[in-house]
Amino acid sequence: MVSRSAAASRAVGVRASVADLKHFMCYFCGDMFKNKDEFNLHKFNHQVEDIAYQVAQNEFVSSCLLITCILAFSVEVFSE
Ligand SMILES: [Zn+2]
Repeated sequence: MVSRSAAASRAVGVRASVADLKHFMCYFCGDMFKNKDEFNLHKFNHQVEDIAYQVAQNEFVSSCLLITCILAFSVEVFSE
């Protein structure tokens, strides 16, 4: 059953308030949740994954720069 406030909101073309929401869709992967706490935990897990990915990528870039510097130095040393 639709609550009275939600029906009234649709009638005048106004967005339903957050309190009227019954389903939550993840904007990262599209999963649907009925429980807001589970949805918030799911979003938190996505954020942790993003941070872990960024840290791993930074470490990869740093090691690539280090290897490039070592190669450039060794080419310079051995070419003399
Ligand atoms: Zn998701």
